[in-house]
Order: sequence, then C-alpha cells, then structure tokens
Amino acid sequence: MILFYGKRKIRIKKYNDRHVKCDNCNSRGQIFSVYREYFHIFFIPIFPFGIKTINSICLKCNYIFNGEKRDYYLSITRTPIYLYTGVILVIIFITTVIISNINTQKQKAEYIANPKINDVYLIRQDEDKSTIYYYLKVKNIDADTVELLHSYLQYNRFVSTMSDSDYFVNNEIYRVLKSDLKKYLDSGMINSVERDYSKSSRFMIER
Ligand SMILES: [Zn+2]
Repeated sequence: MILFYGKRKIRIKKYNDRHVKCDNCNSRGQIFSVYREYFHIFFIPIFPFGIKTINSICLKCNYIFNGEKRDYYLSITRTPIYLYTGVILVIIFITTVIISNINTQKQKAEYIANPKINDVYLIRQDEDKSTIYYYLKVKNIDADTVELLHSYLQYNRFVSTMSDSDYFVNNEIYRVLKSDLKKYLDSGMINSVERDYSKSSRFMIER
C-alpha cells in the first residue's frame, strides 16, 4: 500500500466585513480568509503546523490589499479541532490500550487471589536460552492447596490458545500453595488467566 501523505492548506474561517473601505475602488465590503497548513495522511488531518495566515479581498473589484482589520480577524480565529484528528485518535488509542491493560491486570490479580476450578493459567518459563509456554488448569482447590493439570504440549513461543492437538493430562497432578500463586503472577510466570471460556474451548478437554 502506498502511504499518501503531505501538507495541505485549508481555509479555516471566512469573514464578510461590510464596513472596511477598499483602497482601490473606494467601495465598502471585504472578505477576510484565514488559512492554516496541516499535515495529512490520506487527507485525514493529523496536526496543524506553522502559523495562521490571512488575506483580504475587495467584494467589488477583487483587489487584494492589506486591510486594516487583518490582525484583528487573525487574532480571533481559532484553529478548528478537526485539524488535530490524527493526534486525537492516537491519544484515544493509547488511552484505550492503557485502560484495557490496567483492567486486565486487575482482573488477573482478582482471579489469582480467588482461584476457581477450571481456571486456566498460561505459564511462561525462562529456560537457559529460550522461553517456553504451557498451560495449567485448576482441577481442585482445598484449604491452602491448588491442584493443577499440565497441558500435553509445550510451546516455544507465546500462544493465545491451545493447539488443536493439545489437551490437559488427567493422570498427573501438580500441587502448589494457593499463597504461591500471587508470587507466580508477580514474577510473570503466570502470564494470563482464562476463566468463563466457552464450553467448546480446548481448555475443556482432559485425557
Ligand atoms: Zn475594491
């Protein structure tokens, strides 16, 4: 895709002043036009730059001259907010990502503080030179221990769901202290927590 961008100039305001007299034809009435340059990508304004400029033209003879009120009209003209569209979109995007990230972290911490049967943890484990990932699923919870099932497969990169050939191995149980779960989360070993996933999810499969 070719990225089409560049700078453009737009009239941001037009004033019709019936009181100013023309130097050329002596009639009254002038149009003041205020312009602003902006940077665009595919014609979407990203941000304005430079200074506002103004020109004035006689309504009758089209004579362009330095009208006396130019500075006044220039000073009362504000750059319209839509010229900042790109900047605003970027700010909204970053804010959304930050908020959603905070919420995810909060929810993860809640899930870890109150584990439930069938919760699935994506575990991230640093080996000598690589990082592996696998899943653990909460099989049982008692007073201070959580029983976990290990996924059949290990992954050598981050995954967002189980592979089609993966499942939880039923005949081997790992026990951890409930109180240690928070440590695993804080150290980044528990990468994500899945709860309330669909009944058709691979997370349901135990063999
Ligand atoms: Zn004129």
